[in-house]
Amino acid sequence: MHIGFLGLGNMGAPMARNLLKAGHRLSVFDLSEAAVAALVEAGATAAASPAALARTDVELIVSMLPAAAQVKGVYLGADGLIAQVRPGVMLIDSSTIDPLSAREVTAAARAHDNPMLDAPVSGGTGGAAAGTLTFMVGGTAEDFERARPVLAAMGRNIVHCGPAGNGQVAKVANNLLLGISMIGVAEAMSLGVALGMDPQVLAGILNTSSGRCWSSDTYNPFPGVLENAPASRGYSGGFGTDLMLKDLGLASEAARQARQPVFLGALAQQLYQAFSAQGNGALDFSAIINLYRKDAQA
Ligand code: NAD
Repeated sequence: MHIGFLGLGNMGAPMARNLLKAGHRLSVFDLSEAAVAALVEAGATAAASPAALARTDVELIVSMLPAAAQVKGVYLGADGLIAQVRPGVMLIDSSTIDPLSAREVTAAARAHDNPMLDAPVSGGTGGAAAGTLTFMVGGTAEDFERARPVLAAMGRNIVHCGPAGNGQVAKVANNLLLGISMIGVAEAMSLGVALGMDPQVLAGILNTSSGRCWSSDTYNPFPGVLENAPASRGYSGGFGTDLMLKDLGLASEAARQARQPVFLGALAQQLYQAFSAQGNGALDFSAIINLYRKDAQA
């Protein structure tokens, strides 16, 4: 299948590579020339703009952009994907954005006879590279079944969450929990080490005890505990602190609309906010542990 892919960052690039590996033909666009060049080297074709990509004979388009502003910028408007693409071409947005924006863009796509799914992911950059992401999908059952084989080239758990926007609802709930759990693991690891525990031994205990979670066993924030975690490479790559801050903002706004309290989410949002304001927004979000570590560099 000829697939268009927009947004070749920490997540989009490895996802696009897995589509190539599965035998699909790929046309790509990103604002970063370096990101496009790396995919072209892997076998993709570069498009000069979203409109140019939409005007090729693509059969399906996937986007993996930072936030709702970029998603609306790329999909809507006279030069946007929806205005330029042929009716019938399926659109899949895998960015994490608020459910209302997802529903707005989907409505615009449907008005142009383009089926659209919101399909945010979980699993981190490791899951993106391994093709083991979880896709949380909102849209019609028919469109979900049509898209499933393409999503299966990038992920292992492909779940239909309900109508348009519900993929984003699931994602917001997951990342609310992730933001909180990472701070919990950071706090526990820092306390244990300050009291004299070896970090590896402590992580091993947590991971076979009731405190175990993804933030402790797959993405531990303490440097050196997990060779492949961002903590062991200076918190580079991974999932940026500012992206986590964005997601906790989505959760608190969604909670306001639903009149639902998110006590710990609000506190977590303030901690990432403070950490970002100290100049750490581009670091992986697990670097939040530096708020706790007396020996960590500011
Ligand atoms: P990133 O910042 O690494 O990549 C975003 C890419 O989009 C960049 O290459 C950027 O140049 C490109 N871009 C920005 N505006 C654009 C535009 N108008 N047109 C084309 N390209 C544009 O971000 P990421 O970590 O890959 O995350 C992407 C999305 O996935 C975010 O919504 C994030 O919340 C979500 N997410 C990230 C992770 C993770 O672990 N990094 C995990 C799950 C979900």
